[in-house]
Amino acid sequence: MSRVKIAVIGAGSIAWSSKIIHDLLHTPTLFGSEVVLMDIDQGRLRLVEGFAKRYASELGADIKFIATTDRREAIRDADFVVNTAMFGGHSYYEKMREVSERHGYYRGVNSTEWNMVSDYHTIWGYYQFKLALEVARDVEELAPEAWLLQLANPVFELTTLISRETRVKVIGLCHGHLGYKEIARALGYDPEKVEFEAIGFNHVIWLTKLTYQGRDLYPLIDEWVERRASDYWERWRLTQRDPFDIQLSPAAVDMYKRYGLFPVGDTVRGGTWMYHWDLRTKQRWYGPTGGPDSEVGWMLYLARHEWYTGLLERVASDPRLSVSSFFPPARTDESLIPIISSIANDQPAVYQVNIPNMGSIDGLPDNVAVEVPAEVSGKGVRRTLGLKLPGKILKAVLWPRMMRMEMALTAFLEGGRQILIDWLMLDPRTKSEKQAEEAWEAVLSLPENQEMARHYRG
Ligand code: NAD
Repeated sequence: MSRVKIAVIGAGSIAWSSKIIHDLLHTPTLFGSEVVLMDIDQGRLRLVEGFAKRYASELGADIKFIATTDRREAIRDADFVVNTAMFGGHSYYEKMREVSERHGYYRGVNSTEWNMVSDYHTIWGYYQFKLALEVARDVEELAPEAWLLQLANPVFELTTLISRETRVKVIGLCHGHLGYKEIARALGYDPEKVEFEAIGFNHVIWLTKLTYQGRDLYPLIDEWVERRASDYWERWRLTQRDPFDIQLSPAAVDMYKRYGLFPVGDTVRGGTWMYHWDLRTKQRWYGPTGGPDSEVGWMLYLARHEWYTGLLERVASDPRLSVSSFFPPARTDESLIPIISSIANDQPAVYQVNIPNMGSIDGLPDNVAVEVPAEVSGKGVRRTLGLKLPGKILKAVLWPRMMRMEMALTAFLEGGRQILIDWLMLDPRTKSEKQAEEAWEAVLSLPENQEMARHYRG
């Protein structure tokens, strides 16, 4: 059992805070540890602190929680720094989306081929990049031996940026790979008993292996596609309630047919514009909600976010409620806390991680973050070398996605307007240079974007 200091930056995160706390309180190998919850939003901070302390005392779990708005104090001498902070809150990005749409950019200038995810902020993520880099620089200075676990998006861009610009040991994490479980279930297999491998870039990962007791399950996927998919889709179209229920959607199967491997998790949300032109197109490929990134699906997601905030408020403040009754009795499927335990207690295990490639996947540069399985222990991260993807996926999917990542990083690091215009000149929605100019002018003119405008206007 190791006692460590864990700093959580952006601890008010609705997507992450309660899960992290729940998993920690169900991990006796980390008991005795200190967790510093840090956020700039006092209200959220109090809410999460109240929730954590009540839950810990209810379970009798030996984890000490401290709350602060001082990031440097939180990070100082930490063993692990978890970054879940998202600059500006969801409403800020919705404003940029609305302004972009007025200029002909459905779902915003940020949406591009292989990144349609509504809170994966790349080209308009100036402040989010800046915040993530500041956190990493604090780690470099105040806790140079710490591991930085980057959960806030865009994990692909930020893990690459941090690994290039600092000496920090960074791992990007995402739960999207768990989509393999739905594929296994559809084939009639217990997901806990199959073995899988899904590799690529974060949100662009492809199933390179699915086996049960050594038997390749890909032929069963083919059989499912041929014989069962259309019945499945008929029922699914009538019953789809959750916009995230798209792992076996027509879009996923179409991507499989085009590229030769099954897309996993958030990968299905991406693809080219052929799946995303407008709501009707999205509904054809992703079901009645149009998937999580349509105007309908994203509204449902944001409403759920609000609802969950309210639930946490009630649970944290009403002493008559038992916190544990709202949560599962065991740890969730998230790998963050198990990874911390593996490192702190030197217990090697294999996890899905985002790390600089360094030879993990053939045909990709070393200094780009790839998502791969790797062994994590007290000795660090041990990659498997020489993993392979088909040429079609490498050249037609990963390279174009990597090019967008490089453009977003260059825009952030070097500034200037031209790269923003170039970004849109590659976009099939752009009909003229004037349209691209006007769209960016409108985005940069938002009152929240004054600093970002100075960076890009020069
Ligand atoms: P949220 O708005 O609920 O939480 C973000 C928190 O960051 C807020 O409490 C906010 O006050 C805080 N914050 C903002 N600026 C800060 C600063 N300068 N310093 C410290 N804290 C600051 O957002 P959310 O829905 O919980 O999402 C959080 C992040 O997690 C997003 O980037 C989202 O895309 C990402 N996410 C990642 C995954 C994954 O699998 N990796 C899954 C879901 C969400």
